[in-house]
Amino acid sequence: MQLQAQLQVIDQVSLAQKRVLIRVDFNVPLTSGQQVSDDTRIRAALPTIQHAIRQGAKVILASHLGRPKGKVKPELSLKPAAERLQELLGSAVTLAPDCVGTGVQQHVRQLAAGAVLILENLRFHPEEEANDPTFSQELSALADVYINDAFGSSHRSHASVVGIVQYFEEQAVGFLMRKELHALSSLLSSPEHPFVAILGGAKVSDKIGLIRSLLARADHIIIGGAMAYTLLQAWGIQIGRSLVEQEKVKEAKAILALAANQGVAIHLPQDHVIVTELKTNAPSSTTSGVDIPVDSLGVDIGPQTAHAFRTVIQSARTLLWNGPMGIFEQPPFDQGTRSVAEAVAAVPRCYSVAGGGDTVAALTQAHIADQISHISTGGGATLQFLESGDLPGIAALRAT
Ligand code: AMP
Repeated sequence: MQLQAQLQVIDQVSLAQKRVLIRVDFNVPLTSGQQVSDDTRIRAALPTIQHAIRQGAKVILASHLGRPKGKVKPELSLKPAAERLQELLGSAVTLAPDCVGTGVQQHVRQLAAGAVLILENLRFHPEEEANDPTFSQELSALADVYINDAFGSSHRSHASVVGIVQYFEEQAVGFLMRKELHALSSLLSSPEHPFVAILGGAKVSDKIGLIRSLLARADHIIIGGAMAYTLLQAWGIQIGRSLVEQEKVKEAKAILALAANQGVAIHLPQDHVIVTELKTNAPSSTTSGVDIPVDSLGVDIGPQTAHAFRTVIQSARTLLWNGPMGIFEQPPFDQGTRSVAEAVAAVPRCYSVAGGGDTVAALTQAHIADQISHISTGGGATLQFLESGDLPGIAALRAT
């Protein structure tokens, strides 16, 4: 795709002996004991980091972790990520005391070719999220070459992703970024049909832009999770006390009309698993039809819906999945999501892309993640890229 043709990739840049700042996305979940509980994002950045090491670069990694809101929060230190990276690389990784300042500069000066330094959490400084030019410049002064391999952070106009780029003469994307752009661009430019998109999760407002973009490309859009209730309400269905975004009902109506106009089939739940109270071990039942009683709320798709969704999924040659079909963190309300996960993994000769933390967790729990063609490391970034075909971090690299 044209977008990628306009970007340099790390293997097109000479790195030997140079200080190379790689923006990675090590925003990983931690256990209460400060251990990385899912190292997918660290593993995903390994090809780029290992390439830089092999080339004899002085490797400087930069990332954010969580939401410290511009303050130093020791529990959001990148130390656990640095330790996990060290284990995965099998060689030393040094954690800098900060991401800018004289202490960090000293660490960088001592860096040998092939060695790895990881800067402390960028978001300990409010200037990172403010895309502050002085902070961008200070970060850029640490290195000769800038590499963006943080796909999952590139929808943010932050200093380490956007502001920093202008200060480098040499910059490129990493291998993970290339892989993500390639996988997602192919959904936008040349999907094989039938193209089936499956959307779920809590909020229709997060995905309305994506639905609009998909109307021009997909043949079927399956919608489950709480976001389905806003669309069902727009259709005049009784949804009881289910989660709904009242302010989006009008827009949902417009989307349904647009889909009908464009010949895109929207598949909504036909039955539901419901509870009268949302608490652990709450007794649940299944509705016999699409309406939900006034005293109840939907927590998962019902068996008829799961069957209908599976049938559509089986016909796909291209599949996109983002978002759970119910409150999947709370078994047994994970059954609808699990059923969709198994259906997605079982489609033969199909190009499948899954994204979003919950979706990937559902595939991992079912041990079928390896049957998906591409698992995106981005959440918001994946949605935004599929919606608009670009991201601020990518646009910044193209502009230089
Ligand atoms: P999102 O971050 O928008 O992808 O939403 C994911 C969240 O949606 C998960 O935490 C699910 O528990 C939640 N979710 C899915 N279905 C429902 C539902 N029927 N009612 C309430 N929450 C839901």
